[in-house]
Amino acid sequence: MKEFLIAIDGPAGAGKSTVAKLVAARLKINYLDTGAMYRAVALYLDSKNLSPSDDLSNALDNVEFRYEDGDLYLNGTKVTDQIRSAQAGKLASDFAVNPSVRSRLTDLQRKICRNGQFVVEGRDIGTVVLPHAQVKIFLTASFEERVKRRLKELQEKGVNLTFEEVANLIRLRDEQDSKRSFAPMKPAEDAIIIDTTGKSIEQVVEEICQIVSRRMDCESNRC
Ligand code: C5P
Repeated sequence: MKEFLIAIDGPAGAGKSTVAKLVAARLKINYLDTGAMYRAVALYLDSKNLSPSDDLSNALDNVEFRYEDGDLYLNGTKVTDQIRSAQAGKLASDFAVNPSVRSRLTDLQRKICRNGQFVVEGRDIGTVVLPHAQVKIFLTASFEERVKRRLKELQEKGVNLTFEEVANLIRLRDEQDSKRSFAPMKPAEDAIIIDTTGKSIEQVVEEICQIVSRRMDCESNRC
């Protein structure tokens, strides 16, 4: 099969991860979580006492990612659980403004996807990383719903934050991700925007699979 890429972008709490994983499983293609890469790299840089405003042009030269059985390894260390903390999310967003970090991760993501079939989730996939993706989706939801979803996710992991605390974290991330100078989060001009407020996961997955199927038909008929 030839290269087929589905970009799923959107803000924190819009349901990207759950939906992107299910779409990939349904279509039997690969799934790439680029946010996980930003989180892992941010923890790595922070552990080296580096900060987002430093010159990080060579800081990631020796960083290697490996995916094995659904787990992410950075330089041989499993980071799957560590990267899921609220602190890692905040650090990821802080380091994601640095152009060297973005350029290194963008190159890597393109390399991983080259000639493959992938559902790729992130913030700048349809606009910067894979502007040639056959399908571009921008998932969004009301601010209140996004906070509620993130709160539930954190509570399930035993992290007890209040609604207001999670709202502040998401507000800060939305602001930082959409206002940065390099690759800000925004829908690509040709992205299909799906508001997931009040929709079930299954409904959203179905909607995306139908969009993909129409696109695939279109590709094979060269329309
Ligand atoms: O999606 P997730 O919440 O795991 O992403 C963590 C952070 O990584 C985001 O808030 C964003 O700052 C950054 N990120 C990015 N570009 C991507 C994916 C994530 O800047 N493609």
